[in-house]
Amino acid sequence: MKNYLEESAKKAGIVLSEEKLVKFEVFYELLIETNKLFNLTAITEMHEVVLKHFVDSIMIEHCFSLGQEKEKQICPIKKIADVGTGAGFPGIPLAILYSDIEFVLMDSLKKRLNFIETVLEKANIKNVSLVHGRAEDLGQDSTYREKFDLCVSRAVASLPVLLELCTPFVRVGGKFVSYKSELLKEELGQSKSALSILHCTLERKYEYTIPDSELYRVLAIFSKEKKLEKKYPRQAGRPKKNPL
Ligand code: SAM
Repeated sequence: MKNYLEESAKKAGIVLSEEKLVKFEVFYELLIETNKLFNLTAITEMHEVVLKHFVDSIMIEHCFSLGQEKEKQICPIKKIADVGTGAGFPGIPLAILYSDIEFVLMDSLKKRLNFIETVLEKANIKNVSLVHGRAEDLGQDSTYREKFDLCVSRAVASLPVLLELCTPFVRVGGKFVSYKSELLKEELGQSKSALSILHCTLERKYEYTIPDSELYRVLAIFSKEKKLEKKYPRQAGRPKKNPL
């Protein structure tokens, strides 16, 4: 697994140190073992886990200059939220890549967070905290509201819904990155009103193909210009039932 990840990340333009590769290996083994007991992911074949989960998660490396390990820090990002992290994607791969950034991984399913807790312990990952709850409730909690430089999310909801779930965590001037694929164009068309209500604009898109595959992916990068009105996010379930 380690060799294949090292090669695939390299093909994607990302160099992973031996120390980081070892952490990914611990994560991989726990993911496969735990998935036999309860459902964490439908993707279990080694090459697919590496490409579709690990490499895909870290492609954000090409969008920002993240972490103090880098000399040039264009946009100082110190705190990142991952909303609906599930089994830890993209949050855990990103936390391994950027060990000097603080991550908060959120999910409404406690069982999945319990799994991540074991990963943190066994892989000795120190820069992650876990929060159990629905994004709609956590976004109204002053501990998390508008406290993050960056919020990321993958495979949680359609864009108009996701914008309401995620942008409350982003500070004014911060960014939200949505991991999407072919549906982005259509979902952007449905997000005009949400973007306006939530004071966000699409800053740019980063399109890529996952190495050794023809799988198209795109990161949509939004910037938040003003504070949100107190009524957003609306109560749990409303964003999905009645998107902005
Ligand atoms: N982000 C991971 C990935 O890319 O593999 C997990 C995707 S999984 C399909 C969606 C996850 O989002 C689930 O773990 C679910 O519990 C969580 N989720 C969905 N709606 C949520 C909400 N409103 N608040 C918090 N978590 C939510």
